[in-house]
Amino acid sequence: MDFTASASGPEPRLGKAFYFLFHNRHILVDRDGNIPCLESPADLPVGDFFFFGTLKNLPCYCASVLAENKSLSTKSVNLRAFFLRADDTSRQAAGYARQILDLHLNSKFCGRCGSMTHPKTGEHARVCPECSRTAYPRISPAIITAVTRGDRILLGRGVDFPNPKMFSVLAGFVSPSETLEECVIREVFEETRIRVTDVQYVSSQPWPFPDSLMIGFTARYHSGDICIDPAEIVEADWFSYDDLPLIPDASTLAGRLIRAFVRRKGE
Ligand SMILES: [Zn+2]
Repeated sequence: MDFTASASGPEPRLGKAFYFLFHNRHILVDRDGNIPCLESPADLPVGDFFFFGTLKNLPCYCASVLAENKSLSTKSVNLRAFFLRADDTSRQAAGYARQILDLHLNSKFCGRCGSMTHPKTGEHARVCPECSRTAYPRISPAIITAVTRGDRILLGRGVDFPNPKMFSVLAGFVSPSETLEECVIREVFEETRIRVTDVQYVSSQPWPFPDSLMIGFTARYHSGDICIDPAEIVEADWFSYDDLPLIPDASTLAGRLIRAFVRRKGE
């Protein structure tokens, strides 16, 4: 594999390395749209750089920077946009970088006693010197489900979708003390009042916006009529496999679930 995650590596600025530099939810890329690989990173801004693994056998560091860095000839792109066009390895490394950086930015102080924490040696974690509480990278599991009814699939338009014309399969975060299958049944019912059965796992996708792990399922319609929860859904309907609205990109798990349904029906 081209990218290998690791928590132990050389100090930054010592030699050729990849630098995953973030400005809020943007990532800095070079002229070709790739992650900057720097021979002698003398122009890197001052700040904390965190080693998080190797890419093509070169060390990788992540850091938060204030703005676009003209001396590095980089430009910033939205991390979601980068995700949609990056190859699998770059996507994996960039998502990992973002979440390791978030650990260091969001857990500078202990959530229990408020003391300043420090990075733990040999592990992606931060430790409180006062109460020993350890903070790890946060991962929030969320289910995403293709609910089907014969030749039709249930798609909804979420209130927070960036593109108001796009429809997608239903999704939601897993609650404490809940199985993934229970979450599928609950989320679909809460958002549309539809009851589903035959919940089957398909595949998963890390989704660092900011820290989700999307877990994909299929389910079959059991009963009920669509009645949307307006707090979460603007519009939902059953769509025939050969007459779909605008759907998410094929690089997303949502896009893959919908296309798999279309392929099954088109056979
Ligand atoms: Zn503490």
